[in-house]
Amino acid sequence: MSIVTGIPVPPTVTIPVCGGGEFPVRRIYCVGRNYEAHAREMGFEVDREEPFFFLKPADAIELDGAVIAYPRMTSNYHFEVELVVAIGTGGSEIPVAEAASHVFGYAVGLDMTRRDVQVAAREKGRPWDMGKAFDHSAPCGAIVLAADARHIGGASIQLEVNGTTRQQSTIGHLVWSVDEIIHWLSRYVDLMPGDLIYTGTPEGVDAVVAGDVLVAWIDDLPSLTVSIA
Ligand code: MN
Repeated sequence: MSIVTGIPVPPTVTIPVCGGGEFPVRRIYCVGRNYEAHAREMGFEVDREEPFFFLKPADAIELDGAVIAYPRMTSNYHFEVELVVAIGTGGSEIPVAEAASHVFGYAVGLDMTRRDVQVAAREKGRPWDMGKAFDHSAPCGAIVLAADARHIGGASIQLEVNGTTRQQSTIGHLVWSVDEIIHWLSRYVDLMPGDLIYTGTPEGVDAVVAGDVLVAWIDDLPSLTVSIA
């Protein structure tokens, strides 16, 4: 195979793994409205019929310590702190009881959102992509191996902006558990090693402005710090 001249091959996006090595990112899936209190603040009741998903491009990843320019085409740029699941073993139609064996590890992430663009698209019945799947919209901290994060299901999740707590909840409040998310998502797509799943945000989402510093935590995972320039 020879690549045409003038078109650089995109680099593989990777995320550091605690203890060594880099996790290569294939796709980024995200779950919508997966904490009841967040669904309510967005004007919805939780739907227990079926979770729903959207995607971000792999090159939207930003790592711990990133400085992100305030994005174009929004005046309501929101944070959403989320547990990120890294898939190590692929599969399709994965039973809930087998889902855990497909998890490589966990990280804390931010589903950065152009809220004004997302809501306008929603109201017109249009796709969310330009509100969700834009450049630099998926900061993600270092990945901890699943074996080293056995209590993640009961971990607390928190986001501070400029030292003030803005989001605080527990992973136990997920409407759809990690295992259920893997089950449902793998009914629609073949999950592959390298896939990431952002599992949804708790209540308290709000806007940031240039100069803000975001610090996100989940128990037993390294924190994620992002600055808005
Ligand atoms: Mn989200």
